[in-house]
Amino acid sequence: MSEPRRVILLGSTGSIGISSLEVIRHLNRDHTRFEVVGLAVARQADVLRAQAVEFGVEHVAICDEQAAEAVGDRTVYTGANAAVQLVEAVARPGDLLVAAIVGAAGLEAVLTAITLGCDVALANKETLVAGGALVMPLLEEHGVQLLPVDSEHSAIAQCLRSSRSREEIRRLVITASGGPFRTWDAARIRSAGVEEALAHPTWTMGRKITIDSASMMNKGLEVIEAHWLFGLPAEQIEVIVHPQSIVHSFVEYVDGSVLAQCGPPDMKTPIQYALTWPDRVEGCGPNLDWASMRNLEFESLDDRTFPSVRMAMDVVRTGGTSGAIFNAANEVAVQAFLEQRIDFGGIFDLVERGLREIPARDADRLEGGLEDDAATRAFVRDVLDTMDRRTVSSIDR
Ligand code: MG
Repeated sequence: MSEPRRVILLGSTGSIGISSLEVIRHLNRDHTRFEVVGLAVARQADVLRAQAVEFGVEHVAICDEQAAEAVGDRTVYTGANAAVQLVEAVARPGDLLVAAIVGAAGLEAVLTAITLGCDVALANKETLVAGGALVMPLLEEHGVQLLPVDSEHSAIAQCLRSSRSREEIRRLVITASGGPFRTWDAARIRSAGVEEALAHPTWTMGRKITIDSASMMNKGLEVIEAHWLFGLPAEQIEVIVHPQSIVHSFVEYVDGSVLAQCGPPDMKTPIQYALTWPDRVEGCGPNLDWASMRNLEFESLDDRTFPSVRMAMDVVRTGGTSGAIFNAANEVAVQAFLEQRIDFGGIFDLVERGLREIPARDADRLEGGLEDDAATRAFVRDVLDTMDRRTVSSIDR
């Protein structure tokens, strides 16, 4: 029996992290195929401790320094770059990094892991959106694999297994559930509340990605992610709304053939595919209920109501650090929406303003991307503070 594959899991208390451990538990049921050697979280010390005990993990990372003691008797890395420290300490060539941290925070850890010779199962789309120009050449340089965990990109990668060259591809068609506001009119969407935006019809996910799904910013991020992963221009990437979330994406070939990958909307399937690639083994997710396939609907995306995908296509065309700017503006805007400082339509406005006001430049250095990320966050926070002051003064009157 071969040696178990060593896995470092970043973001183990999030939705993808918990599903990843469920998949590993399943894959290890007969013999140990995967050995978890590192876990990283932002702040949930109690959950981290329980995971570390169950999987026998000696090295863990937690951003919240106060919580470190609660993690128990093991090597703990803390602070804002705790995940990077963890990767530097434990990663060995041939390990697998599962990157499931939310937001641009995961980028540096992914770059470090690649440099140390690890393959990466990527659930963190912001990594490619903000740092695709750095990540992609580094993969080649270090001879490692990047395996998409995002269900749409996993679907496309699976459909591309029957392809011999990029010239055979006409276009990629990314499906979108349409989120909770698919049938709402534009005015109602603009003033939607937090609870309404968090009520996703088909997928259960963390708060940031659920808001991104309602605003279609998630699809925008996925367009940029697909551009980097599969090396195709904006003109060859399309988004189509498919409310049932059964077809996870399509690849259209030049001869007119279209391949689709289907399955129930459950992240365990794409996670397992990334873990066992290039093999397929018995899964632990639900099977497809064929009766539910009776009505599979597809409709075009309403670009006027949801400008997110159009903005993302522009980001792909502009290139450079515009992905980092787009992502940073969206991260701050989503946080502001969750804190009820802006209405839902304010997310679109803030991202649009960020892209307009912060000039993109070449993205050949990590520092440039990080600087533009920071400049965008500062700019959007400034806009928000000005809006808050105006609200307060109008109340005073
Ligand atoms: Mg997705």
